[in-house]
Amino acid sequence: MLRLPQFGIELPEDIASVITLLRERPGARLVAGGTDILPNLKHHLDQPPALISLARVAELRRAELLAAKSGGGDGEPATLYLGAGLTLTEVAEHPLVREHFPSLATAAGLVASPLIRNMGTLGGNLNLDTRCRYVNQTKFWRDALGGGCLKSEGNVCHVVPKGRNCVAAMSSDCVPVLISLDAEVELAGPEGTRVVPAADYFRADGLRHTVREHGELTTGLRLPLPAAARRCAYAKWTVRQSIDFPLISLALRFDLAEDSVDAAITDLRVVAGVLGAKPRQVARLDEAVGKALRDPAVAQIVAGAVHKQCKPLENVPYEAPYRRQMLRVHARRAIAALVEAG
Ligand SMILES: Cc1cc2nc3c(=O)[nH]c(=O)nc-3n(C[C@H](O)[C@H](O)[C@H](O)COP(=O)(O)OP(=O)(O)OC[C@H]3O[C@@H](n4cnc5c(N)ncnc54)[C@H](O)[C@@H]3O)c2cc1C
Ligand code: SF4
Repeated sequence: MLRLPQFGIELPEDIASVITLLRERPGARLVAGGTDILPNLKHHLDQPPALISLARVAELRRAELLAAKSGGGDGEPATLYLGAGLTLTEVAEHPLVREHFPSLATAAGLVASPLIRNMGTLGGNLNLDTRCRYVNQTKFWRDALGGGCLKSEGNVCHVVPKGRNCVAAMSSDCVPVLISLDAEVELAGPEGTRVVPAADYFRADGLRHTVREHGELTTGLRLPLPAAARRCAYAKWTVRQSIDFPLISLALRFDLAEDSVDAAITDLRVVAGVLGAKPRQVARLDEAVGKALRDPAVAQIVAGAVHKQCKPLENVPYEAPYRRQMLRVHARRAIAALVEAG
């Protein structure tokens, strides 16, 4: 049996108290649903003196339409605000998410299993620690490997043996989608509130893979409502297709001149996950702009760019070259499904 280490637990009821506790309890970690941090503690990947639970912070559970991106103004609703404390089940089933951001509903609904989605939160999924086949193991397993690695108790990387940087994978299902939808992350800390584009929230360092400062917590996500017709999708490849982290993931978004797959693409985003610590925004897709989504050339351009630019590492199970092929296959399949849906 894997035992949890000993730690204190704090149960604040508002955001201000969370910030105070983060200041007063150095080394304390936040816990939301606990579905990732608690297994990691059982694996002795950290030994914080205390956990600060967000479970009673009702302010983190808001879901509402805001009038403008900044939350002010009195115009038409422009942004959907989703509190970090909403469960993944709530996100997946929320009518506004399903209506405006179906790829986010898909991604949240594909995380792990119903029980885990009922506990796990959007904020926990956003801040999910990076994962690696060499570190998300028992201490006994890591010791047998010869004393861990940069992310545990050692000083080498087993994925890139001469590397000095941890390349553990960002394996959250929602993150690539949030980036593809131009979401913004709202953070609260001792200096007040700040907002960071989800695309800038992640760093290419598996040991500290977000720009969230010590003393800050994520309070919510702001998603700009689509200004034009749009088709979007999330593709996740796993082996068991149940209670599995993604082995590759891909979020796609196509803005269209009209509400039809025969209309011209005006803008597009493609974001891949599970490569390294930072999701990859696929670049050089301009050739697809102006073409109809139904045009077979679009799938060819996108799948080709994904394959060229995304190079998985041996950081999660399954061979990296195979996962690279899967990225291309799933890009094509996701676009074919969008076209078929009309
Ligand atoms: C068997 C199993 C299968 C899984 N499969 C998947 C999967 O398929 N896809 C997937 O994406 N995830 C998967 N997970 C991981 C996890 O369940 C989800 O990512 C979940 O969304 C984590 O949310 P949580 O609220 O439980 O986070 P917690 O475990 O409570 O926290 C996770 C991390 O986020 C930090 N954190 C939490 N909330 C905040 C906040 N508001 N501000 C700042 N930091 C915060 C914590 O300090 C911690 O570092 C799986 C987990 C298990 C055990
Ligand atoms: S990428 Fe390297 S350093 Fe990072 S967890 Fe894996 S083996 Fe350890």
